[in-house]
Amino acid sequence: MNSIVAKDLVKVYNQKVTALKEVSITINQGEFIVVMGHSGSGKSTLLQMIGLLDLPTSGSIFINSKDVSKLPKNAIADVRQKSLGFVFQAFHLNPQLKAYENVMLPMLINPEYKNKAEMEKKAKELIDVVGLSERAEHYPSQLSGGEQQRVAVARALANDPDFILADEPTGNLDSENEVIIFTLLKELAQQGKGIMVVSHNESILEYADRVYYMKDGVLGDEKR
Ligand code: ADP
Ligand code: MG
Repeated sequence: MNSIVAKDLVKVYNQKVTALKEVSITINQGEFIVVMGHSGSGKSTLLQMIGLLDLPTSGSIFINSKDVSKLPKNAIADVRQKSLGFVFQAFHLNPQLKAYENVMLPMLINPEYKNKAEMEKKAKELIDVVGLSERAEHYPSQLSGGEQQRVAVARALANDPDFILADEPTGNLDSENEVIIFTLLKELAQQGKGIMVVSHNESILEYADRVYYMKDGVLGDEKR
């Protein structure tokens, strides 16, 4: 089973704002982990470090026992593309592309896909996984917020990552769609993905295998 192990992460922005203070956390495949905390507590910063979207000031990130935080930039990008999928509060879909074409986007830079037909087939399968088969050919503007976020989840799965990191994925959704997204992420964890969601939405707690609370850049003890 693969895991992400973050060890003693410190992040100081502009040499003055310490957003993370020696944070350590492990995400195993098959687990649904939630990090809660008020606005400004450092949740997004933690997700960006673990997601290799930005580098920590100090500390290490091991993915499958390998310290990836010290790799050259292009190797880091490679690990990110292969191992990690992302879901954000704002869905970030390309408005010019149909739902399934948005899901294809991350595949275009993945050498494992040999041709466009293969990508298209896989993208449509993933659209099925998120329950939007009827909507594959629709543009984002024709979809509700909840549907757009489901497309974003399908896109996060495009390169079959071991881990999915979600930053406030239901921040723009009503409670009905919140349930759909959390349930979907939970199912993915049960199928073997490692999921980390950062949120300040209490209703996510019932889905979590482990919960952590963040405060002023410090990650508290694990709670179930
Ligand atoms: P949360 O996601 O919990 O709201 P953030 O990780 O966004 O918290 O922010 C943690 C702290 O780091 C805040 O004080 C925030 O202002 C600061 N911060 C976040 N990103 C940056 C940045 N790019 N540059 C400077 N300060 C930042
Ligand atoms: Mg945030």
